[in-house]
Amino acid sequence: MLAEVIECYNITFHTFISIISCIMLHKNTLLFAALSAALWGTTAQDVNAAVVASLKPLGFIASAIADGVTETEVLLPDGASEHDYSLRPSDVKRLKNADLAVWIGPEMEAFMQKSANQLPEQKKVTIAALPGVKPLLMKGEEEDEHEHGHDHGAAEKGDEHHHHGEYNMHLWLSPEIARLSAVAIHDKLVELMPQSRAKLDANLKDFEAQLAQTDKQVGNELAPLKGKGYFVFHDAYGYFEKHYGLTPLGHFTVNPVIQPGAQRLHEIRTQLVEQKATCVFAEPQFRPAVVEAVARGTSVRMGTLDPLGTSIQLSKQSYSQFLSQLANQYSSCLKGD
Ligand SMILES: [Zn+2]
Repeated sequence: MLAEVIECYNITFHTFISIISCIMLHKNTLLFAALSAALWGTTAQDVNAAVVASLKPLGFIASAIADGVTETEVLLPDGASEHDYSLRPSDVKRLKNADLAVWIGPEMEAFMQKSANQLPEQKKVTIAALPGVKPLLMKGEEEDEHEHGHDHGAAEKGDEHHHHGEYNMHLWLSPEIARLSAVAIHDKLVELMPQSRAKLDANLKDFEAQLAQTDKQVGNELAPLKGKGYFVFHDAYGYFEKHYGLTPLGHFTVNPVIQPGAQRLHEIRTQLVEQKATCVFAEPQFRPAVVEAVARGTSVRMGTLDPLGTSIQLSKQSYSQFLSQLANQYSSCLKGD
């Protein structure tokens, strides 16, 4: 097609009308070229090799390892919740065609359980099932009765999607589990693409070095905040808080799809005042109005935590950027007085 257009330019001395008429003369050829490009494009996309990660932070880890070897894509769109997504037909196709799928496991991404089950073992990394990860799992808190009722619509929706099991499954917030995930992704990609071993080895080495450095920096930044009390919107941050010695007082809800009831909100408000909390943290995608209402009239400051790193682009450095951003979000609210 390009050749045809260039030909039109060359033979017509660049006058607009003659370029158009020349293109019209060639239009059957051009149409055919456009059509084959479209068809060829579709075919190329279907066989396009990629790592497909369920959630953005897993994409951060995967893109560092796959850098320069293969593309990394993320299923969950920015702004959506890891707790109530449904795969689109194009997502199902992307998973089916992926070189490697990376997810936490059925207790987190219930929405992709069916697709993941259909993939052979060598084409998926199930982080919660990695042998090194199992001993690191933290117990999740069961939803208590206060979080049901009061708002029946929300409660029913929550039950329908309810998938919080025995453990806290927000595993991407543990730097230790992130490293184990990177190793697992590396190992699977080496099996699939042995010709790229040298690059994959170098990427893993870079990731580990960068992570160690960021871990140190974040540790230094958060160390003075030990003992500061605060509430988070949803029970996602346990691994990060434990790793860096932060001291949360509690959370508004276990499953953000379930709106906390009036009684629960009243309890939280009482706790905020009695336990002298410094901050309450909302999340970009969830009801900051609820958090604001609870904090209103108290001296408690409002902050925001983004557990999915929605504004961060995939790159070799993105997982470290994600940890640093989260640390900054904690410290900007908790530091002072
Ligand atoms: Zn969550």
